[in-house]
Amino acid sequence: MDGTNGQNKSGLNAPKKDYSRPMHTTEHILNQAMCRRFNCGRAFSAHIEAKKSKCDYRFEASKVPSSEDLAAIEAEVNEVISRNLEVTSRIVTREEAAKYTDLSRLPEDASEMVKLVFVGDYDVCPCIGAHVANTSEIGKFRIISTDYKDGVLRIRWKVEAAACTC
Ligand SMILES: [Zn+2]
Repeated sequence: MDGTNGQNKSGLNAPKKDYSRPMHTTEHILNQAMCRRFNCGRAFSAHIEAKKSKCDYRFEASKVPSSEDLAAIEAEVNEVISRNLEVTSRIVTREEAAKYTDLSRLPEDASEMVKLVFVGDYDVCPCIGAHVANTSEIGKFRIISTDYKDGVLRIRWKVEAAACTC
């Protein structure tokens, strides 16, 4: 970095899609909640849309979460959202990023500089998407349904809009 505006010069890959910010930020929190509870890794596939989204996780058949487990995930995600955590980002070298998070799933052609996104002190991961500035903007997380097939747990979920405070 040369002290001028590094963001335009860092050569970061551009976002592929204009996500719904609340939904996409919730995806970060859900992934961290899943990792903490089940040690299953972050979703290997996700479809994030404004109204409802889905995330796919790999599970062995004997370890598929029960409905109680999933209720606990829903509660944890909502508890994290309710902490009003700031969502911030830092652009760092890959070497620096590796100290915080697993980079093994970055695409081969990813930039040398990596944008790390922090949801308070709860989650950090490399991401080029668009996020809310604070989890207070998110609203309520709901799991709509889940199913399990061929080693993949699919969670369908949504966020209900944050209550108007005016
Ligand atoms: Zn993101």
